Amino acid sequence: MTALQVSDLTKRYPTGTEALRGVSLEIQPGEFFGLLGPNGAGKSTLIHCATGLARPTSGSIRIFGHDAVDHYEQARIAVGLAPQDLNIDWFLTLEETLDYHGGYFGMRRKERKERIAELLDAFSLTAKRNDRTRTLSGGMKRRLILARALMHRPKLLILDEPTAGVDVELRLELWHYVQRINQEGTTILLTTHYLEEAEQLCDRMAFINDGRIVAEGTSDALAAQY
Ligand code: ADP
Ligand code: ADP
Repeated sequence: MTALQVSDLTKRYPTGTEALRGVSLEIQPGEFFGLLGPNGAGKSTLIHCATGLARPTSGSIRIFGHDAVDHYEQARIAVGLAPQDLNIDWFLTLEETLDYHGGYFGMRRKERKERIAELLDAFSLTAKRNDRTRTLSGGMKRRLILARALMHRPKLLILDEPTAGVDVELRLELWHYVQRINQEGTTILLTTHYLEEAEQLCDRMAFINDGRIVAEGTSDALAAQY
């Protein structure tokens, strides 16, 4: 079954902007897929459509077989989103942040507790578990965003510009974490405007510009071409 299947997707905002003009792409289970493009290309719009935040004008999106446009309630359990804006409640502790998210996805108390311990350990955040999120460093905040996205064990993880605006050292650190997530079996869709990032991390990638996919292929082939 295809992990993400986007077919002939269009999105026209009420302002008249055509943010997506017939986008099709397929991501296979286990793949690390990169969507590259400059600001305004349509990356966020595509992610918003795949996560139920925006309604496409036409076309379809299926996530592990679930219709993400008309029945997002069924698709959402398969999706974890690490949004670009770090939309964290700064007054909750790390544990509370993860626990709240798990509760939202219907996880039982015992299961949440185990999963929280596992994730805090995996993202080297255990020592901070009772601290409020606002006290975290930039890198820790981004790791928490990844942990939160993975809390309910999604099969598809969407990373929206995970390293935008971070320094080189932190970027390398985050790469290490996302590579491990993929190696452990989670399918990943990553958006970025850094070619180097997609080249380093992704099996395949697509370039989007002005709402259209303008190139697609293995990372090696595309990187050699551009
Ligand atoms: P990217 O994420 O690649 O920077 P976006 O999907 O944010 O691109 O934007 C694609 C186009 O749609 C841009 O021209 C942007 O200004 C426009 N756009 C995005 N969101 C909205 C919105 N809510 N209303 C109107 N236009 C929008
Ligand atoms: P992102 O950084 O995720 O691409 P933006 O900074 O482009 O988001 O947009 C921030 C918010 O403003 C989003 O909710 C987006 O939908 C909205 N937005 C973006 N571009 C436009 C636009 N041209 N007209 C109206 N709303 C927009």
